[in-house]
Formats: sequence, structure tokens, C-alpha cells
Amino acid sequence: MTTLQKDKIKGLFYGQAIGDALGVGSEFLSKKQVNVFYPNKLTTYSQIIRDSFRKQWKIGEWTDDTDQFLCICDSILKTKSVDEHAFAKELYAWAQESPVDIGITVYSVVSHPNFLENPYKCAKEVWEDSGREAAANGAIMRTSILGAYEFWDYEKVISNTKKIAKVTHWDPRCVGSSIITTLLIAKLINENKTLSLRDIIEIGDKYDNRMIYYIELATQNKISNLYLDEEGVIGYTLLALSAGLWAYFHAKDFESGLISVINEGGDADTNACIAGSILGAKFGYNSIPTHLIDGLKNKKLLEKKLNDFMKLL
Ligand SMILES: [Mg+2]
Repeated sequence: MTTLQKDKIKGLFYGQAIGDALGVGSEFLSKKQVNVFYPNKLTTYSQIIRDSFRKQWKIGEWTDDTDQFLCICDSILKTKSVDEHAFAKELYAWAQESPVDIGITVYSVVSHPNFLENPYKCAKEVWEDSGREAAANGAIMRTSILGAYEFWDYEKVISNTKKIAKVTHWDPRCVGSSIITTLLIAKLINENKTLSLRDIIEIGDKYDNRMIYYIELATQNKISNLYLDEEGVIGYTLLALSAGLWAYFHAKDFESGLISVINEGGDADTNACIAGSILGAKFGYNSIPTHLIDGLKNKKLLEKKLNDFMKLL
């Protein structure tokens, strides 16, 4: 592995965690509210307002998105492979510890009595029960790590992502949006190259043609045109994909891209996990401001997991 590749993988890990920990500061706020609470924009952990929702986390602490990212990491470290049952076991153990937040889809699937034996059957059942409508962002928020594992083999990246996304999220939009994220991350790490809009549309179209609209939405110059805080759409996997792709297409550097996404409100921690991991892989760890790295509450844990993951690679 080259020094540049190592820096990009480190950037991906930190970008994920930083986006999550800073994004919680505007999570579930409308853009109007974000402007009121953070008139000079939310840019650092110490600004995060201490309302009853945000008080559940300590300043600089990441949320369920990165917890589940680390569940994937742990399952890979233990089995030296990507295995749906090993991940299901990690996710189940995490859910048993009563985390502060857990998405409705993840909760429903993990609570199913057969989850550990047959996670796919449970995920499919929950999706069928929703009238095949449920397409939440709970898979895309955690899967970016799969862009780094076996990053040199794109077919493997696709099958690994599919395996892990489907443990809880059966909808093709959830699988497809996770795969777009991991593929563009893998390409950044492997070749330091970006995927074109056409390439991305082609991938999305294979999973669900409703993805095309949200991929094209990300080409808008102004991030406000994405309406990331729109009621009823918040939490949708394709909106999270749009946020990540917007950063991928438009951000000039890690910090400005991440700050733009976070200050739009909506499901900001998740949107920022995706944007952060992509930007980390694009611009590298060395481009991330020190205060955002050092302010992470559980930096030591992240560093340990990253080092173990690197050794395995
Ligand atoms: Mg979260």
C-alpha cells in the first residue's frame, strides 16, 4: 500500500467519525433553525447546543452511524472477511447495550427472533411489511468502510457492500446507494480517480431507476437546492446519497464540504458521515483540521480500530 492510500483510508475513518460527531449538532434541525442556533455556521464541536436531544451525547462523541461502522470493522477483524452473520452478531451485541439512538429499520430487524440465524430473511420481512417502501439511510450511514476493505477489487467491494447493507436494509435503493458510496471511495483509494456522473447514474440505474433523480440532484451548485431538511424526506437513503455526492462533486476541500452539508440541517449526522468519509478518501487525513481530529471524544478507540484494520489490509 502506498503512503497516499494509507492517508486516504485514515481520512475515510476520521471523516466518518468527525461528520457524525459534528453533524449531531444540527441533526433534525431545519435550515432556518440551524441559522438561528449557529448564525456564524456550525464549524466546531464546542458550539454544539445542549438541548435535550443533543445532551444525550458528550461533546465530540459520535452516534449510531459510526458505532455501526465499527461493528463492521470488528466483524472484519475477527473473521478476516466480510461475513453477514459475523456482522449481524456484532450489530446484535451493540443493540443489546441500549445505544442512545437506533434507527427504526435496524431496531425492527435486530429485534426479530430469527435475526442471528437468518438476518436476510428478517430484513426482507421487515421491508415487505413496509409495503416495500422503507428505504432509510441506516445502511449507507455505516458502509463506507467497505470502500477501503479490498479496495483494489471493485467486484469484491460491490459484493461486500451488498452483503452488509442487506443485513438490515433490503430495499434496492439502500443497497444501490451504499454501493455507489463504497465504489467511489474504493476508486479514490485505489487509483486516486473519481467516477463521472454518467458512471454513477449507470450504477444507480442497475438497482432502482428512482436513484437517477437523486444522483442528478447532487450536481446542483447550491447545496440548498437539495433541501436536506425537507420534512418527510429526512432519513431517506437517496437524500443521504445526494448529500454525499454533492460533497464529492463540489467540495474544494474536506472542511468546507463537510461544513456545508452539516449546516443544511436534516439528518445531518448521517449526511455528514457519508460526505465526511468520501471527502476523507478524496483529500486525505492530512487535509483534515487538527481541532476536528483532536476534539473527537473517542479518538483513541478509532485510532486503535484503524491501526488493526490497516494491519489486516
Ligand atoms: Mg446518528
